[in-house]
Amino acid sequence: MPDEIRVHRWVAVALIALLQAACGGAPSPPVAASLAPAAPAAAPPIAAPAAPIRETTRTVVLGDTLERIFRDEGLAPGELAALRADPELRRRIDRIVPGDELRLRIDDGRLLTFERRLSATETLRAARAPDGSLRSEVRIDPLERGLRTTGAVIEGSLFQSTDLAGISDATAFKIAEIFRWDIDFVLDIRPGDRFDLTYETLSQDGVPVGDGELLAVQFINRGEAYRAVRWTAPGGTPDYFTPDGRSLRKAFLRAPLEFSRVSSRFNLYRRHPILNRMRAHRGVDYAAPIGTPVRAAGGGRVAFVGVKGGYGNVIEIVHRGGIRTVYGHLSRFSRGLRAGTVVEQGRVIGHVGMTGLATGPHLHYEYLQNGAHKDPQKVPLPKAAPVPARHMAAFRAHADPLWAGLDGVSAARVAPAQTAASSKAL
Ligand SMILES: [Zn+2]
Repeated sequence: MPDEIRVHRWVAVALIALLQAACGGAPSPPVAASLAPAAPAAAPPIAAPAAPIRETTRTVVLGDTLERIFRDEGLAPGELAALRADPELRRRIDRIVPGDELRLRIDDGRLLTFERRLSATETLRAARAPDGSLRSEVRIDPLERGLRTTGAVIEGSLFQSTDLAGISDATAFKIAEIFRWDIDFVLDIRPGDRFDLTYETLSQDGVPVGDGELLAVQFINRGEAYRAVRWTAPGGTPDYFTPDGRSLRKAFLRAPLEFSRVSSRFNLYRRHPILNRMRAHRGVDYAAPIGTPVRAAGGGRVAFVGVKGGYGNVIEIVHRGGIRTVYGHLSRFSRGLRAGTVVEQGRVIGHVGMTGLATGPHLHYEYLQNGAHKDPQKVPLPKAAPVPARHMAAFRAHADPLWAGLDGVSAARVAPAQTAASSKAL
């Protein structure tokens, strides 16, 4: 990032000038000397014995302490104490972790400035004041958010097309995630399918740093249009909804774990493999390695966590609409999970095992509606909650301009693989 480096250099030059003015320092400015080490593989630094100001960036490694870093950098013994004298400053520097970057400017064993990045948008900076104390400030370098509306016609896979349209993989994953209940992005995609979307772009000092939220998207699969807009009900969590306010999500995952195979189906007339007598199999068995994460199939409240007969370690969750799900033979439960815990759909609740009556590692999964066992592989899964009627007006006011934006970019597209983009501040 040459621009950034240039900015920092200018800041450094200005600060040196200021500090020298303040300290009544040497008349010959040491600017050349301080810049020389940063010049690209340049001539050896110009000898400037009068002003050996040094700038260094240290990346914290395992086992580093501020004491060690200050000693390594040749700082005088009192300098760390001076930095720690301000309790607020002390709080912000005392815990350093591997990967942290510390930028120091040192004048003959004396600390001139100390910088530490606190977050993506905040930098702590301490500088020597004219009275010799170190004064600190936190600089805010906010993320700039923009909007991008674009789209493309699919020629290969979704990811090839998003690549061509300059859309990040992270955003492409979101498209696939949002529509995964309706579209199989491996099997259902056809050349000529198309998509349009509006998403946030993030930058800092004019440099792009990634994509923000995906705000609205439409996908036309084999002539059928699917639309989703991101919206958060007052006091709720963000979700994606169709134009008429229905959730894109089902309220339940079809299977509560990935990367598994069905080893025993729902069967009310099965001979039990261990007991060797007729005993209904009121769930589905998913064979998977011990330790495979098991997820809550739907949002709800944990009703039971513990050991129960042939189930071994088992979790039961109650959901809206009289539905209950059961997860048996677990090797262990997720930390902190107990009766009464509210879980969201997809949260890891435990891990595959073979506790209880089990011949091998698998998850035994049951789905009950009003107390009756249903086949988890076949039961029609209810949709997640729609936009509440009382919030429909607010939802439409939020969504309508986003739909209009997608219509605009879709209409502007005249040929395959051509994209149209627009950008405006939020
Ligand atoms: Zn089973």
